[in-house]
Amino acid sequence: MREAPAVVEIKEILIRTSGFLGPVCSHSLQPYRGCAFGNSLCGVGCYVRHNPFVTKGRPWGAFLEARLNAARRYRETYPRELAWTRRQQRKFTIFCASSTDPFPPQERKLQITSALLRAMGEFPPDGLILQTHSPDVCREIETLLLLAERTALRIHLSIEGDRDRLPGLPPPAASVERRFQACRKLKEQGLNCVVTVAPLHPLQDPEQFFQRVAECASGVIIDHFIEGDGSLQGRRTLKTGLPAAMQAILPESVTLDYRDRMVDIARSILPGRVGVGQSGFAGDFT
Ligand code: SF4
Repeated sequence: MREAPAVVEIKEILIRTSGFLGPVCSHSLQPYRGCAFGNSLCGVGCYVRHNPFVTKGRPWGAFLEARLNAARRYRETYPRELAWTRRQQRKFTIFCASSTDPFPPQERKLQITSALLRAMGEFPPDGLILQTHSPDVCREIETLLLLAERTALRIHLSIEGDRDRLPGLPPPAASVERRFQACRKLKEQGLNCVVTVAPLHPLQDPEQFFQRVAECASGVIIDHFIEGDGSLQGRRTLKTGLPAAMQAILPESVTLDYRDRMVDIARSILPGRVGVGQSGFAGDFT
């Protein structure tokens, strides 16, 4: 979607985490609600499309709400949330974003994520995980370099595999090539960029793929829709067109054995730089 998003004001921007994100970070933060990439390849298997709290019955990819006061609410609630993490004896680590993409095309004009990143530079958390599918993250390199001096910054760029098309499914919002180029650019600037292969797609050439990851990124996190979509045995994803498309290319790719085989290959190419599933998102690389 490229039309103008609805503009909203929100009460809370720093949300204390539980569930999958509980061990990963203390807070999640969504600059937008809904996702402009919902009708692209990643949107097909996106677990957020199954979250009625977010969709309120609307089709995934058909709505986007821009949280115009996000940076202001961050500044205002930072002291309270920092104090809360200290009472919990935890690090104040933010995951941005788990239910949207922080860099939809509309961000170029609205600058909501951009303002948030600058606010975080003024009031730094202990850590920030910035998760995106978009090469537009490179538009923020200057701010990210300043932020990296003040917080443990890890940029996650999602590249689910080495194919731009899966049979019967829409194209990605940005090609695999463009996303690898973005990773390389971030790495060349000295930023900590990790490729998130989540959910893992069937790979054409696993060795070559992980070799490229090794050249362009600090590390890789591999996650399968089974165990990775927040439901038992990947039930949520099984309701979508993603598993059938994966199966049509490589039947074993819909099993955890396939993930484990890909993890072994990744570890042989990137020793000490491979995370798996939730522990990988939490920063555990072996
Ligand atoms: S960019 Fe992320 S939140 Fe948006 S549709 Fe894709 S996977 Fe879902």
